[in-house]
Amino acid sequence: MATNQQVPQQCPTNFQIIEPLFYREFEATDPVGLEWTLERMPRNVNTKRIKLDKNQMSGKWLYTSYNTNGKFRCLRCMKSGVTDIDPTWSSAYTTILFRAYYGPDTDENGQQWIGGWIQMKVFAQQCKNCDEYVTGELDDQKYHNVVKWLHQWIAHKFYGYPLPRFGYRGRRSDRHHLGNRCEACEAGWCHYRGK
Ligand SMILES: [Zn+2]
Ligand SMILES: [Zn+2]
Repeated sequence: MATNQQVPQQCPTNFQIIEPLFYREFEATDPVGLEWTLERMPRNVNTKRIKLDKNQMSGKWLYTSYNTNGKFRCLRCMKSGVTDIDPTWSSAYTTILFRAYYGPDTDENGQQWIGGWIQMKVFAQQCKNCDEYVTGELDDQKYHNVVKWLHQWIAHKFYGYPLPRFGYRGRRSDRHHLGNRCEACEAGWCHYRGK
C-alpha cells in the first residue's frame, strides 16, 4: 500500500451542519415555525459592530452574536507536514454572528413574500504559525445548542417570548485568547474582555 501523506478530508462547513438542525428545530416548534430561512451571510456585509445603531440594527437587520467553545485546525499547516508545530487549537471565544429580518422580500421572479431571513457567519481566528485565517468547528452538542439558542432568540425578538437563558459566554479569565488574531475581536463582537 502506498503511504502517501493524506490530505485532510474536506469537512462539511458549519453552515452545512447547522442548516438541517435549524429546520428541524424551527419546524418542530410553533409559532416560529416554517416562516424562517437560514442563509450564509454574504461576504460583502460589513460586520463591524460599531456600524450598528443602539438597537443593534443596521438597516432592516437585527444583529446578535453567540459565544461558544470551538476547535480550530489549520489545514495549510497540516498539509505542510511540519511535525514540530501543532496546527490545532481550541478557543472559548469562538463567535458566531447572526442577523435576522422579518418582512417582505422579493424573489427572482418579482414575487413578494413575507417571511423571516437569518444569516450567519462564524468568525475566524488566525493561525499562529502561518497566519492563515481558520474557521472554528463545534462538537455535535454545541451545534445543537447554537440552534436551540437561535430559536429562542428569534421567538423572543420577533414573537415576544421570554428568553430563558443566554449562550455560553466564555471565561473572562482566559488569558490565552489572542485578540489580534481573532476576527470577532476585530469586528467588536468577541466576548473576550481581556487585553
Ligand atoms: Zn497554519
Ligand atoms: Zn476574540
